[in-house]
Amino acid sequence: MAILIGKLRQLLDDPLLTHREFKKLEQTLFEGDGVITTLERDEFIPWILWPQAFQVLNFYDRLRFTALQNRFTLETYVASLAEVGLRPANSVSKLMKWSTRPGKDYLAQIKKVDYRSPTDFDLKFKYGCRKVFWKYHGETDIEQIELALKNIPLEIVYLSLAEYDETLPPEEKIKIDPIKKQIAKIIYLQDGEIENEAFQETIEETEPLEDLTEYDNLDETGDDMLKSIDLSLSKPVNSTFGLPSNFFTNQENPKILEALKITWDAIPSYLRSKVGSQINFYTLNWGQQLRGYYNNHPWDNNPPQVILGSTKTNKNEIVIFDDYDQLTAAHTLLHEMGHRAFFNLDNQMGGNWNVSEDTEQTPGAFAKLVAQHYVNLFTDPEAILKFPTRYAITDYRDYFSEIFSIYYLGDLDLPLDGGYVTLHQGYANGFRKIKARWMQNDPKGYALMQKYDSWIKNGGDPKIIFAPENNRVA
Ligand SMILES: [Zn+2]
Repeated sequence: MAILIGKLRQLLDDPLLTHREFKKLEQTLFEGDGVITTLERDEFIPWILWPQAFQVLNFYDRLRFTALQNRFTLETYVASLAEVGLRPANSVSKLMKWSTRPGKDYLAQIKKVDYRSPTDFDLKFKYGCRKVFWKYHGETDIEQIELALKNIPLEIVYLSLAEYDETLPPEEKIKIDPIKKQIAKIIYLQDGEIENEAFQETIEETEPLEDLTEYDNLDETGDDMLKSIDLSLSKPVNSTFGLPSNFFTNQENPKILEALKITWDAIPSYLRSKVGSQINFYTLNWGQQLRGYYNNHPWDNNPPQVILGSTKTNKNEIVIFDDYDQLTAAHTLLHEMGHRAFFNLDNQMGGNWNVSEDTEQTPGAFAKLVAQHYVNLFTDPEAILKFPTRYAITDYRDYFSEIFSIYYLGDLDLPLDGGYVTLHQGYANGFRKIKARWMQNDPKGYALMQKYDSWIKNGGDPKIIFAPENNRVA
């Protein structure tokens, strides 16, 4: 995904689109999953609405059918072009082949690294036909840096270094690590600013929470798609990866299964046995789900969105989508476990989440405690600092899942890769750091998690431990 977005930006960075570039654009949009996701669409829609950009009318026609008539899959793209006597720029068989494998070839080829210090190094690489010699001297302005990189996104350089890193002997790796860290820092700083803007918008739209049952961060299409997923095709994965028998997959992505195993083994054993053992975990590929769904609903008007994981309130089932990177998988595993932990505890405190999401669910005393704390956080003018991640702002249940995941992940040094998604969400700075910052800025939220941890470890009566009079969150 990251690489695709980077490639799209590179192709669309000037108003000229040559035939060669159009072929690349077409390949990029469908590569890896055969579907144009929300993220990809958002990258090229503003550009497509500016018709002067197209030198040849056919380009415009092709993309118009895809983007503006809501035909998001490779199959519907090919079919809609045929209706007006057009064909894709690439051969259909090639596009089909590309759609089933990730687009690794969009990484830069690192040719030479001269490392002196984290803020003083030279990097020589080849990206497509561009040759870049980047002399870095500690700059932090991303626009200025990307200009020096001939408009190649810094994320691409990061990902390419991570890939290059894997091929090196240990003594060489030592030089790459500080460079990767420095690049991650620059990207993270940039995202911090974006995060602030997004947060300002969110806080302006957020009313104090009154209806505790109101919760939905998926639009109807996302929900329909999740409902249409057939989990019965999944098989246990324990044989190959040593995961417990409640892990299932219907398409093995070894890197993601490895990440889940490492994370699963690293979390406290009481969490595994008391929360995890009650859950069936499924890994699926979201891109494939999207493609199947939109092929069956070709005139669906809602753009396909990216979903990382899902938990049903009334079922002990967690689905983790495996088209992302390892750190995102680790975070998703803990985030979704956080939802289950929340429902299980709240059901013991007068809540009733055991009914389907179409039926009215009753929040119990624990849900009310978390919701009250979540609302209180917004009363602070510097509220952004209080939330451990941007996603924690979504609603009180996702707030709990985020503090749950950061609480546990912040104690672990997981040897996992992270790409664009992780950088974008700031994980590149490390879960440990995110936890440290959150502990300081949201001490009451942290105290609540400490209490949860102690309860899940040692037991006790939740009605007393989490009673409002024993938990002053205000
Ligand atoms: Zn969630």
